[in-house]
Order: sequence, then structure tokens, then C-alpha cells
Amino acid sequence: MRTKSLLTEAKQIERAVTLINLGARLQVLESETDMSYERLLRLYKEVSGKSPSKGQLPFSTDWFMTWQPNIHASLFMNIHEYLNKAAEMDEIDVVIKAYQLYLEQTATQNLEPLLSVTRAWRLVKFVDNGMLTMTKCSKCGGHFVTHPHEISRHFVCGMCNPPARAGKGKAAGGIQMH
Ligand SMILES: [Zn+2]
Repeated sequence: MRTKSLLTEAKQIERAVTLINLGARLQVLESETDMSYERLLRLYKEVSGKSPSKGQLPFSTDWFMTWQPNIHASLFMNIHEYLNKAAEMDEIDVVIKAYQLYLEQTATQNLEPLLSVTRAWRLVKFVDNGMLTMTKCSKCGGHFVTHPHEISRHFVCGMCNPPARAGKGKAAGGIQMH
């Protein structure tokens, strides 16, 4: 019993440290570990060398619906869903692993990772509670983060239909709508 709780404790600290290193907000740690606020605060300062930023977490789904963030969020969710099916892990460990793979993906493509780990964590919650979902693009067949009830027969993703302000859009992407 004692060994088990020690292991659990070690695992919790490990998770917390990993999340801090990935840049998670303190609220994520509070929600995903049983550690006290004071301990987490101490750990946060120790690991990151600074005080956690204050203020509210992003609670709106809007950010995920804007063009570039949506592509990043969708990339993350595809990895997340794959891991969720493939491996038996605790929910938060799936988020951590998926986020690490997302960072690798963006690095290999020389992209700035627009999705923070805190937003990635929120995104999974939004999908879990049905505020957001994944819909298949009718053009490319990829799965993208959308509001629920999007009709996939009509849905066209942001990669297939970039906004005009993305510039060079039609020429560069070779995408003609009509
Ligand atoms: Zn598409």
C-alpha cells in the first residue's frame, strides 16, 4: 500500500514536471494532479524558474475555429485520437504524449507551434463534452475540429479553402473552388 502510494506520488510529480516543461498553466496542473496548490506553485517556480502567469484560462471555443489555429488543433486532435485508440494510457498522459508528437510534427515542418499545451488540454475537454467535434472534410478527407452538427457532406476544411487574406491562396494551393 505504501509502495503504491509512493509510486502514485512519483508519477504525479513526473506528470506535473512534464506539463510545466511543456508550458502548461498552473490550472492544468491543479486539475490533473492531487497535489496541493502550494506544492504545485513551488514546483512550478522550481522547474520553470518563474512565477506562473495569472488570469483566466481560455474558455471559449472561438480560437479553435480560426483558420491557422484550426489546422494546428486538428493536427493535435488527430494524433490524440490515434493514441487514444492505440494505447492504454491515462487521459492526461494521452494529452501529454499527443502534444509532444504535435511539437515534433511542427518542428519537422518548420512551423511555429501555435497550439499551447493548455489549449490542447482545453480542446480535449471541449471534444469530450461535445462543444467541439471532428468532421471529415468533403474535399481532402482529413478530419478537422469543428462545431458539432457540421454536415460533413458540405464541410470544407481550412487547408482546402484558405481565407483570401492568406494571400497567394489560389495560386499557391492550386485550389479552385469553381
Ligand atoms: Zn480539406
